[in-house]
Amino acid sequence: MTVIDQITAAIGQDRVLTGADAAPYGKDWTGAYTSTPLAVLRPANTAEVAAILKIANETKTPVVPASGRTGLTGATLAQDALMLSVERLNAISEINVEGRTATVGAGVILSNLHDAVEAHDLIFPLTLGARGSAMIGGLLSTNAGGSNVVRYGSTRGLCLGLEVVMADGRIMNLMSALHKDNSGLDLRNLIIGAEGTLGIITAAVLKLQPKPRAYATAMVAVSSLPDALTLLYKLKEATGDGVEAFEYMPRSYIAKHRQLFPDATGPFDTDYDVNIMIEVAATRAQDAITHPDGSLPVVSALEETLGAMLEDGTVLDAIIAQNEAQRREIWKRREDAGEVAFFGGVFVNTDVAVPLDKVAAFEQMLTPRIKAIDPDAEEVIIAHLGDGNIHHTSYISRNDPEAMKALVAAVEDVVQELGGSFSAEHGIGVSKLDTMKRRKDPVALDAMRAIKAALDPNNILNPGKVIPPA
Ligand SMILES: Cc1cc2nc3c(=O)[nH]c(=O)nc-3n(C[C@H](O)[C@H](O)[C@H](O)COP(=O)(O)OP(=O)(O)OC[C@H]3O[C@@H](n4cnc5c(N)ncnc54)[C@H](O)[C@@H]3O)c2cc1C
Repeated sequence: MTVIDQITAAIGQDRVLTGADAAPYGKDWTGAYTSTPLAVLRPANTAEVAAILKIANETKTPVVPASGRTGLTGATLAQDALMLSVERLNAISEINVEGRTATVGAGVILSNLHDAVEAHDLIFPLTLGARGSAMIGGLLSTNAGGSNVVRYGSTRGLCLGLEVVMADGRIMNLMSALHKDNSGLDLRNLIIGAEGTLGIITAAVLKLQPKPRAYATAMVAVSSLPDALTLLYKLKEATGDGVEAFEYMPRSYIAKHRQLFPDATGPFDTDYDVNIMIEVAATRAQDAITHPDGSLPVVSALEETLGAMLEDGTVLDAIIAQNEAQRREIWKRREDAGEVAFFGGVFVNTDVAVPLDKVAAFEQMLTPRIKAIDPDAEEVIIAHLGDGNIHHTSYISRNDPEAMKALVAAVEDVVQELGGSFSAEHGIGVSKLDTMKRRKDPVALDAMRAIKAALDPNNILNPGKVIPPA
């Protein structure tokens, strides 16, 4: 019996796709990473995931877990491997309003979870452009960030419990709804961010937050990045830490966005160097009660902060959304970032983090080094400025692998000199494996290899991803 026959016998023919039925799964959102999986397995419950891994482990067959396949690092490449899609584990089994938790399957699509909890006046705060496809299993496995880390933290901080099927098919039950649990090693946080190399997440208990009662959303032009940081801190103070998004879109991003989306307008009649998208949320009731003059306190707080900085010349221009349609338009410009980064030509794309006050230095140090490699390269940045996460893309003038490598190294150098990280929120996958080998602390790499070998001795779980060979 082949391994596919064994698995089919264990979980049923309707769970196993091969040939043309499996082919679409060999492609991810980027289209840049393609593979031909041996088969695509779509188990309907944890027991079936366990049965698959038991057989795969015994036969030493590689298994690549997949959720929405919106990852940007080639981490779901499944050449000569079984792809295990968790898409059928899509039940939201409990929304505990009193405990403010949701218990969900790994295949729940993020926007479906958003809709489900909103009905209870709650939010699951994680949000990103791929929310209509990305699933909880993938979001946890990449420890995804997104646009409101500045207020709520990354996915790891939003997860209380996990159910994980280990490489040998045993089920590890960490489905706790506890906010404190110091019972030994923190395995939950080891599995989160492991990109499917240590186990397959089948379910999770997630933290929910109260739904903000109102939002104030704006595009603001600021005279410099240090002034943008001043604005961030002032707004935090004025709104009781209500800043949910603080996104940097320099002139280069606005121009590239207009080029790719010719229908897009604005944000301003004048082009500015430093444009910030801001969203502030009112969680306190009093910030969402309309004043007799028709103004909303959360909007007033934003207007007053911007007004003072307009007067002293540090804010140059500002547009506050007057209705939901305008708010959506502002968000769309930000959420088109995936397309802007990936579909604008021959490119080198990076995902780095630096301390908040070093973003300006990053730009200043990097540009001359890029120009030295390719004087015609076009640089485009979009950054989650509130958490120092910069997505830097170089559109290179020629399809030259050596120049591309040199560009990656230039970004790595600057990040290292500034005390940053070469991987902020997208994970490693295959795209940052070389960087991992070059830049990660060697003792940390050895520790990762030891953990991987202990938990997955046959190296069947997403082999060749995340941890470079010694
Ligand atoms: C338009 C767009 C915007 C984006 N914006 C952001 C952003 O702002 N912030 C951000 O952080 N990311 C962003 N991303 C990247 C991507 O959405 C995230 O990495 C997301 O977490 C991937 O989720 P997914 O369900 O698509 O996972 P997949 O791509 O299917 O998988 C990602 C990784 O997780 C592993 N995996 C999947 N499911 C499981 C499981 N059940 N158990 C164990 N391992 C598993 C896979 O093997 C792979 O290593 C964006 C992507 C796009 C296309």
